[in-house]
Amino acid sequence: MRAFHNNPALKEHYLAQIRMPKIREEILQKGGWNDGRDAVGCISHGHNVLDFEIKLGIPNVLGSVLNSIFLRLPSEAAVDFLEAFILSIKPGTDLSGVWKQYASWLLVDRDEGISKFAISGAEVIFEISELYRNSCTEISRWAVLAKSVREKWQKDFWQAFHARPATDVTEYRRIATSSLAFEAAHEAANAGLYFLRNKVEPACRSADRCLWQAAKIYFEDGGEDAYVEASKRQAFKILDYLRQSSDERVIRTCPYGHKLRLPTGKSGTVRCPVCNTSFSTIT
Ligand SMILES: [Zn+2]
Repeated sequence: MRAFHNNPALKEHYLAQIRMPKIREEILQKGGWNDGRDAVGCISHGHNVLDFEIKLGIPNVLGSVLNSIFLRLPSEAAVDFLEAFILSIKPGTDLSGVWKQYASWLLVDRDEGISKFAISGAEVIFEISELYRNSCTEISRWAVLAKSVREKWQKDFWQAFHARPATDVTEYRRIATSSLAFEAAHEAANAGLYFLRNKVEPACRSADRCLWQAAKIYFEDGGEDAYVEASKRQAFKILDYLRQSSDERVIRTCPYGHKLRLPTGKSGTVRCPVCNTSFSTIT
């Protein structure tokens, strides 16, 4: 699968569409195109997340990521995000690995990862992240982790339910955010499991809910503003990954064995920054 089916004109077409003042106004007013309150509809003019891949050559799950964040941003920021999403993607790029990277970031990143909210048993969140990192294709391993993270979530959920804000607000929040973290991780595990079973639509729904629960943690902690800020950080990160994937590089070695990361699709002489030796290569 190649982004925009490797056709720059297709990217321009979708960009022009989003930039049309009439469309922009409509999205700002109604939160979507033609009464459809979603980002995928704004772009693909269809209301099915499965249209995304067919029309744009972009994995459906990234349509779900886009949608999930879009609906949580203030309207101006949401429209800008929509445009930035399209802009970040270079036609012809294979984006099939982006969800795996993104899910792993969402789960265990040192600053943003939801694992830090788990009161106990965060290991299971790291294990799910490992499955994503290693592109694990063993259904049984995904299933085992989905089940054990679900148990964690249920346990914390009922504990939070019984703790209730009335008794001790701080303690309640601590348990409630832990419960949400496990719930988000459960959705991440489910998404991986559904993908392996070729159930794309439920996989996309799980990915959407995973992001949503991850942002809700911040609502529990800091209210609406913190929730929107968390959604914005999710937006910046997906744009980052899209740009990184579009910037394709290959490794070439100089005559003295130093490894250089070079842009693809070029040929000519390169000077090694370490030993200053020039050598010719094709990327
Ligand atoms: Zn060298």
